Amino acid sequence: MQSLQQVAALRALVAEWRGQNLSVGLVPTMGSLHDGHRSLVKAAKARFDRVIVTIFVNPTQFSPGEDFDDYPRVIAADKAMLVEDGADAVFLPTIDDLYPRGVERTTLITISDLTNELCGAHRDGHFDGAMTAVNKLLNITRPDAVFLGEKDFQQLFMMKQMVSELMMSVEVIGVPTYREDDGLAMSSRNKYLTETERDKAKALFETLSEIEQALKNGSNEFSQLEQQGLRKLQELGFIPDYIEVRRQRDMLGAQAADKELVVLGAAKLGKTRLIDNIQLSR
Ligand code: AMP
Repeated sequence: MQSLQQVAALRALVAEWRGQNLSVGLVPTMGSLHDGHRSLVKAAKARFDRVIVTIFVNPTQFSPGEDFDDYPRVIAADKAMLVEDGADAVFLPTIDDLYPRGVERTTLITISDLTNELCGAHRDGHFDGAMTAVNKLLNITRPDAVFLGEKDFQQLFMMKQMVSELMMSVEVIGVPTYREDDGLAMSSRNKYLTETERDKAKALFETLSEIEQALKNGSNEFSQLEQQGLRKLQELGFIPDYIEVRRQRDMLGAQAADKELVVLGAAKLGKTRLIDNIQLSR
């Protein structure tokens, strides 16, 4: 596995591969890799000749007061996993490499409607930062496909929107959420949980699963289900940001006639912000 930091070096490597007619998949991450990330790498390896994994804790997607400084950075362990999983290159740019004029003065990508909804309503500037960083990585690597986790459903949806609306020629491939045995979605931030919190954390998935079940049983009481879910989490000591039922196709609020739905939730448990979602058909 090649390890690269410079934008020019990565471009040259991709050009070399393209000269050999090799296909390329991209897996963008912020590192502190777990089995969820690894399932993305494996999915990319299964479909493409070469796989690039990027590790970049992107400052523009953290709001003021969030965990940018504390975010776990364990590059040596990450690299060992990537070698095991057969990644061909890891790209580890610095902030200056990706934001040459600085993070305060940069071109940003905004998806006008969704940027301030759901997670965007609670994380100022988060999606503009995430869209911008992935856009940069796509422009550097020009892959055939980019692999993203369904765990970040809104991000995945917005990334598909960006690629379509900016007429970019890359396939966006979503990979199912990888979970712990008790249902908790794997996340680099789970490292922040205390032992007691870790035990409680499964309640987010359980709450979303209960709503999923009610929807599958035919309930259209979306608002009532959302309120019940919020109350349950509050009683357990979470500070919920939102629980919402939306439709998969356009992420607008669910209507009674909708069959393909997604239940999304985000809540803080102590200092850890957890998010999850369940897609369902009925
Ligand atoms: P992150 O490092 O948290 O920015 O995540 C990098 C990529 O991995 C994103 O596309 C995430 O959606 C994806 N990802 C994170 N956790 C999981 C998980 N538990 N299952 C599947 N994909 C995940």
